[in-house]
Amino acid sequence: MPEMSISELTTAELQSGLQAGTFSAVELTQSYLDAISRREESVGAFLTVCGESALSQAAAVDARRQSGEQLGTLAGIPVALKDNICTAGTKTTCASRMLENFVPPYDAHIVTRLKAADAVLVGKTNLDEYAMGSSTENSALGKTRNPWDLQRTPGGSSGGSAASVAARLTPLSVGSDTGGSIRQPASFCGVVGMKPTYGRVSRYGLVAFASSLDQIGPFATDVTGAASLLEVLAGHDERDSTSVNRPVPEYSRSVEQPLEGLRVGVVQEHFAEGIDEEVASSIRAAIEVYRSLGAEIVDVALPHSKYGVAVYYLIASSEASSNLARYDGVHYGHRASEFENMVDMYAASRAEGFGDEVKRRIMLGVYALSEGYSDQYYLKALKVRRLIRNDFDAAFKNVDVIAGPTCPTPAFKIGELVDDPLQMYLADVYTISANLAGIPGISVPAGFSPAGLPIGLQLLAAPFEEEKLLRAARMFERETDFHTKVPQF
Ligand code: GLN
Repeated sequence: MPEMSISELTTAELQSGLQAGTFSAVELTQSYLDAISRREESVGAFLTVCGESALSQAAAVDARRQSGEQLGTLAGIPVALKDNICTAGTKTTCASRMLENFVPPYDAHIVTRLKAADAVLVGKTNLDEYAMGSSTENSALGKTRNPWDLQRTPGGSSGGSAASVAARLTPLSVGSDTGGSIRQPASFCGVVGMKPTYGRVSRYGLVAFASSLDQIGPFATDVTGAASLLEVLAGHDERDSTSVNRPVPEYSRSVEQPLEGLRVGVVQEHFAEGIDEEVASSIRAAIEVYRSLGAEIVDVALPHSKYGVAVYYLIASSEASSNLARYDGVHYGHRASEFENMVDMYAASRAEGFGDEVKRRIMLGVYALSEGYSDQYYLKALKVRRLIRNDFDAAFKNVDVIAGPTCPTPAFKIGELVDDPLQMYLADVYTISANLAGIPGISVPAGFSPAGLPIGLQLLAAPFEEEKLLRAARMFERETDFHTKVPQF
């Protein structure tokens, strides 16, 4: 099957092609593996490609289809996983020297779910070390480039997962989002990326960064593909005490129904200082699309979101400093080969295993939690976090979704912000509040800058309103063709 036709197919079209026997799962998987061998060298989306096991999973799907067996909803569809999601028998590195050779003895909950849905697992994608970053440049194990401009970053931290879908190396991928790590790279790479409500998807087997913020979610070339993948990822799991026991709607079915009487909230502060004019004008145009569909556009205020970045970097770093204490070269992770005594062994192992950004977060977190400072920093941040959530609760009394930019700028150049961590942190200004409030958010392609770089529209909704969010996103997508554009390189 010619590669061109595959990269133009949506997940739904791939599913019907497989069902109709237009192509087999082996042919489909092989054509994506061919795309990987042709383009991966330029993109660098993967840390591990599991070609052989992908083909044998695909062959098993074909054989079961032949015998008339009932198959899972993603049967034969290739999926890539961010390399902070545990896969039994396959390395899970978090793009860190610390876990460079770590092979988990178990599958993450979502991996079990994907296998039960008969998806084909193609490989593990690059990320910022331990998911800390916004450009994938903090990876200790590889460089990922933005398929729209190879001089630019794909965003981060799920940069490899976003780039894989953008470059059509896989139709779907999975990422994690603690402060924007699915939505921001989705925006930079011109694909759909969604962070579900905190608790919607089990975190069991996701290597913890900031446990009260981390959430796993889908990437796809279109909204319907993201809906199909979320349907598989979501659901209760007793092994994650924050996983919520609620039925999972059939997102992939309901997504096609437009919403009647949709109320779209707009936050004026989103268009204030710091946003690129090219981004602002695409987002204004997107809001006009909703207006033309009969939606009511309502101004909403989120007065505490301006503290989001500060609050996030205190809470996320505090939790990270605690979660990363386990990497001491004894319980987990790299152990230094030379040391003088036990304490020195811990220190040397951590000094060698962690990169600069991870160390920065640990130091920030340990400081924010330290005796005499935790009231001023960590506890204060928790209080402001509550105010941010209250603002959203009030806003969602009047609107169904809030629409705005995913990021203030399109993709920046590789090397442009690495030496300026504060500037890098500001890339998350619009995405962070959703994690602090625990609400779902999605980024959908909504335009291109004059230089041809993708621009993302972010939609947010109240907790567990994923269905509404996907339907609202699909309404916009149906009216526009940004998601159909494929990068040429
Ligand atoms: N860019 C943010 C950070 O560096 C968010 C990362 C994420 O969502 N994992 O922490």
